[in-house]
Amino acid sequence: MLAIRFHGRGGQGAKTASRIVGTAAFLEGFAAQDSPIYGAERRGAPVAAFTRIARAPIRDRGIIVHPDVVIVADVSLISDPAARVLQGVDEKAVVFINSSLSPEELATQASLSGHVTSLDLTEAALQHVGKRGAISALLGAVAGRLVGLRHESIHHAIARELAELGLAPSVIEQNQTAARQCYETVPVVALEPITRRAAASETLRTPVYEPPTRGTAGITVGANSAIRSVGGWRTFRPVLRPDLCNGCWLCFANCPEGAITIKPDGRPAIYYPHCKGCLDCVEVCPTDALTVEREAAATSKT
Ligand code: SF4
Ligand code: SF4
Repeated sequence: MLAIRFHGRGGQGAKTASRIVGTAAFLEGFAAQDSPIYGAERRGAPVAAFTRIARAPIRDRGIIVHPDVVIVADVSLISDPAARVLQGVDEKAVVFINSSLSPEELATQASLSGHVTSLDLTEAALQHVGKRGAISALLGAVAGRLVGLRHESIHHAIARELAELGLAPSVIEQNQTAARQCYETVPVVALEPITRRAAASETLRTPVYEPPTRGTAGITVGANSAIRSVGGWRTFRPVLRPDLCNGCWLCFANCPEGAITIKPDGRPAIYYPHCKGCLDCVEVCPTDALTVEREAAATSKT
């Protein structure tokens, strides 16, 4: 497996770049996984995104702690402690930096470990796209080149991902042209996949499951639904068939109204004055223990 970590500033396109590489890898028949991480951030704040590529199904989840390749969209991020650009980067990792400086200059200036390579993507974007900031296609192209993906796959992935963002075909074409230039000119560093040299020392951990009572919302404050009946909203109502219930509590955990409680015997009970009839509980029930009855028919029985 190859693990690529992207660092950028909000608006530069790190997230889209991770998607472009993931899509390109997928088009080449690899298993791929891409995901971003950012909070309630604003434009310009450090963001990161992650792409994993493998021949086999990818079971790792979450952030990439030991990257094979790090793609840095903005050189100023390296000295930003909040961005943690160099976290987990060792001497075998490849670090790409969007910069007009040479790899040697960057390695010296920033005391970087790993193999450093660079290219001025911002200049390429200005030449071909004429818009400052978003260099997602170029980041994706460089990352794809460094991990050995074909240009055709990158080309198609750019079209697909940028179209999803609503970009005009002419703008997508400009991005593809700039991306091709970057793909062909980025200095390539031989990649030594480090994946799982870290994994060898890591042990699998068994997750600890908490009962849903720990994490399920309950409305207890006055003037909320605790005192407001929503039972009159129903057109259909869920009805429990206790003989089919396996006590999994999925209905309890998914009810948005807190209308389901768990009885001492571990089985659910529906409190109809707080049940609005959304039938989410019916949807999630794995054993069909919750059936649906039309409200008029149900009330005539009760
Ligand atoms: S129908 Fe909706 S509101 Fe009623 S118990 Fe099921 S999930 Fe809760
Ligand atoms: S989801 Fe279905 S099986 Fe699970 S506790 Fe609720 S009624 Fe029972």
